[in-house]
Amino acid sequence: MSTRRLRLACPPHAGEAAVSYPYPFLPRILFFGTVGVSVIDTRIWGRIVARYNRFMKTVYTFVPSPQHVYPDHPERPARLEVLEPKLKSFDAERIETKPAERDQVAYVHDPRLVSGLEKVCREQAPGIIDYAPTYVTRSSFGDALLAAGGVVTCARAVLDGDARNAFAIVRPPGHHAEPDRAMGFCIFNNVAIAARDLLAGAEGRPPLQRVAIIDYDAHHGNGTQAAFLNEERVAFLSVHQYQPGFYPGTGWIEEAPHARKRIVNVPLPARAGDRVYEQVADRIFHPFVKSFQPQMILISVGFDAHWSDPITMLGLSTAGYLMLARQVMALAEDYCDGKIVFLLEGGYDPVNVANGAEAVFVAATGKGESAANDPNPNQEPDCESRIEEIREWHGF
Ligand SMILES: [Zn+2]
Repeated sequence: MSTRRLRLACPPHAGEAAVSYPYPFLPRILFFGTVGVSVIDTRIWGRIVARYNRFMKTVYTFVPSPQHVYPDHPERPARLEVLEPKLKSFDAERIETKPAERDQVAYVHDPRLVSGLEKVCREQAPGIIDYAPTYVTRSSFGDALLAAGGVVTCARAVLDGDARNAFAIVRPPGHHAEPDRAMGFCIFNNVAIAARDLLAGAEGRPPLQRVAIIDYDAHHGNGTQAAFLNEERVAFLSVHQYQPGFYPGTGWIEEAPHARKRIVNVPLPARAGDRVYEQVADRIFHPFVKSFQPQMILISVGFDAHWSDPITMLGLSTAGYLMLARQVMALAEDYCDGKIVFLLEGGYDPVNVANGAEAVFVAATGKGESAANDPNPNQEPDCESRIEEIREWHGF
């Protein structure tokens, strides 16, 4: 009886009559299936994948390099000593890492630099190798390979769908290291090596065509910029303190006129803090990502932009770091199915590093909350005209 009622409500073949069916020899179900797939908008598909991703885990790698240490140097293992005991409290899974392969490092660095560093570490360390000063110990070559491997491992886990997102907590840091020289406490450029690995692809892993890197360490990511100055498949944005005498001295707005919208520098005055960074995220991060349409976003996060960092003069608080992590997470959700990897660069106060890392985990996992309450006590400068100047230069 109920079957009969259904037939009366919907006469048989009513829908089919309106469609001309050109391939009578194929099963009709296939025809409708093909039409269905062709009309799904890629943005809608992205949202479906992002929703699925919400059920996936956040992973992290931890490479503390305890033997990479030099007397009285701020880039020291103690940077991570407040964070380490807290790592198990985050809703994230630690994954093992392995050293980057020589050919992965050679995607970015001159092989002569790699073999030279290996020799110096083995035969002459400990010692200083540049004026920053950057130091090496007997273990530094292996530590630097493991740090780069920690970022590669995270990026592959996200790309392969084994993790929703990831955080590579590694040292030594990398963003100052240029293709032909180690500098600025950095030996190998970890984020550049990971980005090149994504572009190279591998067996069973198709190469990516567009990777975006956003760097909000307090210092300009000169090494990452140098690595991708002429690489159309990578976009790079750095927001950093900029003033005479401040390391490394690069990162002005007009440094890459051939790559507007793709190589973006946001130089900020001392004391720029949460309010300024929020404007930068809204008005520069967003159009940067929108214009490039990355397939994955890598975040070089340095906690030395905190107002109490001992070697810089910016003004972020932990709440500002949480805001930034949430902003870049939202961009990843909108443009690349949530595929995002955070990695540690600088940050020289161990408490700030622990609080900032907690903020990254809170944003990445969507669970827990940031306990730190450390508002910037200093007045922020007005950066309205600087932000407008940058937007105008790039046509954002
Ligand atoms: Zn820094």
